[in-house]
Formats: sequence, C-alpha cells, structure tokens
Amino acid sequence: MNGSTSSGWREAPGMIKQPSSSYNMIAAAAKFLKLDFSAEDMAAFAKENEITADSLQCIEDLFVQLQDTKQKNIVRTLLKLSRLPLKEPKTFDTFDFGRFHGKQADELENLPTLAALYSSTNLALIGPQGIGKTHLAMAFGRECCNHALKTYFLKATELNQKLLQARKNGNVERVVKSLVKPSCLIIDEVGYCNFDTENTRIFFDIVDRRYSKDTPNTMIVTSNMEPDKWVTFFNDEPALKCAMDRFFDKALLISMKGRSYRGKYRRKIEVTAGVEPRQSAEQTNY
Ligand code: ADP
Ligand code: MG
Repeated sequence: MNGSTSSGWREAPGMIKQPSSSYNMIAAAAKFLKLDFSAEDMAAFAKENEITADSLQCIEDLFVQLQDTKQKNIVRTLLKLSRLPLKEPKTFDTFDFGRFHGKQADELENLPTLAALYSSTNLALIGPQGIGKTHLAMAFGRECCNHALKTYFLKATELNQKLLQARKNGNVERVVKSLVKPSCLIIDEVGYCNFDTENTRIFFDIVDRRYSKDTPNTMIVTSNMEPDKWVTFFNDEPALKCAMDRFFDKALLISMKGRSYRGKYRRKIEVTAGVEPRQSAEQTNY
C-alpha cells in the first residue's frame, strides 16, 4: 500500500514507502477526504469496539479505496480543465526518448520527474516541425495533472484570440488570473500569429505575475523559432523583452534537432508508363 504525503496526496508509484501504522494510514486518508478523524480517534474507536487486526485492516483498505477514488476524480477533473487531449493522449510512456542522442539527452529523460515544476523552472522547447515538442509539452502537462497540479494548455493563436475577446468583453483581469493560477501553463507554437501592442503587454503581465508567484509556476513554450526571433511576433519590443527576461531567468531551453517523427510510415511509389512498366517502392526521407 502507498504512503501519504504531508498534503494527504498519496505518493506516486515508485516512491519509497514510509512504514506507517494502520491508524496513521486511516488518519491520512481521512484528512485527504476532509474528515475530522485522527489516528488517536481511530485507536480509541478500535479499543472501544475491540476491533481485531483483520477488521482494522478492512477499515484501512476501505479508507484507502475512498482516497483512491477521490484522487482519480481530481485527476479526471484536472485533465478536463487542462484542455489536453483526452482521446489518444500524449504521454511520456508513448514518447520514444531513444530517438535523441548526445551528452545532454539524459536531461530530456528527466522531464517525467517534473523536476522542472518542483524547482520553478520554465521550459522552452525549440525545434523543427514534427520533432516532438508538442508531445513532450502535453506529456509534461498530463503528468502535472496526475500529481494533482492544475495545468492549462493552449496554442499561441488561441491565447491571442482569448486576449482579444477578453478586451472586447472587458474581462481581461479575470482571464489573466485564470492564466496565472495554473501550476503549469503551456503555450504551444509561438511564432504562428502576431500579438498586437495591447496583447503583448497583457502577455508580459501574465509572465510577470507567474514569475512573482510563490506556488508552482512553470511555463512551457514551444516554438520552431529561436527565442531571439520571437520579437517578430510581438508588437511591443520592450514589453516582450521584459517578459523574456523573466521567463528565461530560470529556464531550461531544450533545443531539439533532427528529422520529423511524422511520415515514419509514409511510402512513395513511382510508376512509369512505357513498353516495360516499372514499379519501385521506397521509404522517403521526409
Ligand atoms: P512538433 O510539436 O515538434 O511539431 P509533435 O509533438 O506534434 O511535433 O509530433 C508530431 C507527431 O509525432 C505527434 O503525433 C507525436 O506524438 C509524434 N512524435 C514526435 N516525436 C515522437 C517521439 N520521440 N516518440 C513518439 N512519438 C513522437
Ligand atoms: Mg507542435
């Protein structure tokens, strides 16, 4: 059986279990379920009712099951709110890390530990189309949800539209707050649309407020352009520079190079009409 963290969230699989008595396990589960029931209460109840070791185990199993159910519901809700795909989700398990070589490839394999999130580090995933930037960003976001951490995913074009709409509706502050709150905010595909001056300033405000937050505040940005080219897509250079200054104050820039994963199963055939028809099949390089 898994142990519980101080927050009441049960430890992720693979973490070292702390030896714990049934009373403590029940109390930890009760706390998670927001019940006012301590280990001492359980011990007193067990004594009063002459509960056997087997019965105590049954009670512990029941509490742990209730806790599991609640945790699963929380994760399901967080995943729904995150805007990450629920069908055919992108996960670390389905990511082929073996494609990447080099001295620092290990750092990529460390992403599933969420060390970046727990150390308030931002991530910039930079590389060509199809290299796996969105997959990795989504997998990271999904893992955050699995750890009960609020996550929000949107493309830069959607962010732009969202901010334009908020300005029209006069609810910019509410929208900004909703983008500052998640522990992990993912902005996919920076470099496909232009942010006007006002949207660039609001973007700066979001980055700045996330930067000043005490709670987990990781931002993940993906782009096929190097960060020094982002200025082309934002219309207030000083505001963008301030935003980037904060973003990169504590960040890991992952520069991904290589061929697209897409088209792995693409075939090309060539057929020529003539006296002796010829057919060839080959794997293409693009
Ligand atoms: P990018 O965002 O860099 O353009 P994507 O992350 O969208 O690329 O990847 C393109 C497709 O290839 C997606 O379906 C993704 O799941 C898949 N893919 C990319 N890299 C890998 C990988 N290393 N392992 C497994 N699937 C991958
Ligand atoms: Mg992408």
